Amino acid sequence: MDLTPDLDTPSPARVYDYFLGGSHNFAADRALAARMEKAMPDIGHIMRANRAFLRRAVRALVDAGIRQFLDLGSGIPTAGNVHEVAGRVAPDTVVAYVDIDPVAFNHSRRLLADDPRTVVLHADLTQPDAVLGDPTLRDVLDFERPVAVLLVGVLHQLTTDPAPIIARYRDRLAPGSYLALSHASSDERADALALRDTYNQGYANTARMTLRSRPEIERLFTGYTLVAPGLVQLPEWRPDWPVDPDEDPRRFATYCGVGRLG
Ligand code: SAM
Repeated sequence: MDLTPDLDTPSPARVYDYFLGGSHNFAADRALAARMEKAMPDIGHIMRANRAFLRRAVRALVDAGIRQFLDLGSGIPTAGNVHEVAGRVAPDTVVAYVDIDPVAFNHSRRLLADDPRTVVLHADLTQPDAVLGDPTLRDVLDFERPVAVLLVGVLHQLTTDPAPIIARYRDRLAPGSYLALSHASSDERADALALRDTYNQGYANTARMTLRSRPEIERLFTGYTLVAPGLVQLPEWRPDWPVDPDEDPRRFATYCGVGRLG
């Protein structure tokens, strides 16, 4: 896979980095981010809420005893990466980061080069056999023991049905493993459709957003049992502090949940 980033074409990893306040984004990314903000002015707030869900889910999974994470579509490293959140509570936690974006891969690899508890793969998560068979990944993850698979903020970037891909990962996991995911939806907020159209035009043929309905997203947990509070909007998943009563959770247009296997 080509590791040379095309800096003249926006990339979902770098646009997300921009919205999170990171520094690994370029003019083309910022231009698309501005158009996305026009279509949905609070898109940055939603992306930060997505990242906050990831952190809370990781923390909850560590509290549930998980010490191995497979982070698919991990993004450009930023504050509160999975190994940082988990490592603060359980330093023996191992993490495999997987991303298709060259900037995300290069930066993750540089940052984590000296960390024996993490590995970084430049790979396409829609090829589960290649990902799971990669010797780098198998250096840190023991599939005889529970693993938490993270698919946070990435599945709406897949145009094909994610269910068979998720099932392929699931079938390799030991009982007691988990799946955590978040997925954009227009069920509760019609202007998500305008955002999707801006996104799809902006990325031309390099990336596409596919919004899915709540039942479609719930089906992605087939074989897993959703843990409390179930499939909810981003800020509603085990909030650190009371949810803002003046903020309608439906504005986040993103369902999230965590399921347990077996
Ligand atoms: N999971 C992180 C989070 O929630 O904070 C990052 C989410 S970011 C919005 C989505 C990431 O998924 C991007 O870095 C993008 O490059 C990556 N991605 C998209 N399609 C992918 C694929 N087929 N295989 C691997 N990574 C992919």
